[in-house]
Amino acid sequence: MAIRGEEERQSALEIGTSRVLAVLLPLFEIAAIAHATYVVVYLICVAYLMHPSSSLREDGILPRNSTGVGLLFLYCLFLFLFLVTYMRLLQVIWTDPGVVPLGDPSWDKRSAPTKYFEQYDSYICDHTGMPIWCEECHNWKPDRTHHDSHTGRCIRKMDHFCPWAGGIISETTFKFFIQFLFYGFVYTGYLLGVIAYFLAESSRMANLRPVHWIVALAFAALFFLFTFGMFMTTFYNLSLNYTTVEVMQRGRIHHIAMHGKPRTTSTPTSPLSEVTLSPSRTYFVVETDGTDHPWDLGPAANMKSVMGHSILEWLIPLKMSPCASHTNAVGEFEWAHSVRALRR
Ligand SMILES: [Zn+2]
Repeated sequence: MAIRGEEERQSALEIGTSRVLAVLLPLFEIAAIAHATYVVVYLICVAYLMHPSSSLREDGILPRNSTGVGLLFLYCLFLFLFLVTYMRLLQVIWTDPGVVPLGDPSWDKRSAPTKYFEQYDSYICDHTGMPIWCEECHNWKPDRTHHDSHTGRCIRKMDHFCPWAGGIISETTFKFFIQFLFYGFVYTGYLLGVIAYFLAESSRMANLRPVHWIVALAFAALFFLFTFGMFMTTFYNLSLNYTTVEVMQRGRIHHIAMHGKPRTTSTPTSPLSEVTLSPSRTYFVVETDGTDHPWDLGPAANMKSVMGHSILEWLIPLKMSPCASHTNAVGEFEWAHSVRALRR
């Protein structure tokens, strides 16, 4: 009992720390961006390249206006794309992170309404055919929903809580998170290249190594490694249609309730049980093989289901992911071929 109380205190402390970090880290990132802007725009492009001091000129560092203007233009472009994506990500995290409504505290598994699931021909269920229940939210969990301990709420297609991005990465924010990481490593990669090149040059020609340049270079390297590593991992998960939560649950067997009557009961995938949600909605339960991911549509379709169907949707942080619309009556998310085969 004492150990359990200690574990709960430890977990509450970790959650509290993550919440504080989710406010402090974005502020720290904004401060680092402001500093990098001062270094690249003013110190490098204006004071070093376009209007070098007389002592720099004596060391052979002459004015290079076109280089300064070109680098300035590219810096503004990459910074603009990164900031717009970051603002869009924060806006969706704060306004629409995919929170499932709370149920009535008096509801339990026997009394809670199941109308929501009756609109779909198939849904994830337990072995009896009922949807998955959340004790904390007193409500059913829609497919791919995970209860998030940071917010104390069920989140649709929960990926992870990211203090660097300022909150929950989920069904609604995953696309903007990927764009944030992509433009993040493009922007920090550009910073890294520009600062490193001119730091080496000024060190070689004028024996100058300004502290501001070195600090900006160190932060650019840190954020570049972070955003690039996260982008590769997240994009790999996207190509398999896995969330971070699902990666950790890999190999899990899913029960799926399917509307209608099974054609035969003598196949290896014979139904486990039947459940009637309403007089017109009877479902039979099948289970997936642990090696199958029920939503793996193949790499191209997996990526399109989140990023969109055109190159503009992939690059511009405006439209929501197609998979967040839930307009297909077959299931909340499009089922993998293996699940469609089970149904047939
Ligand atoms: Zn919950």
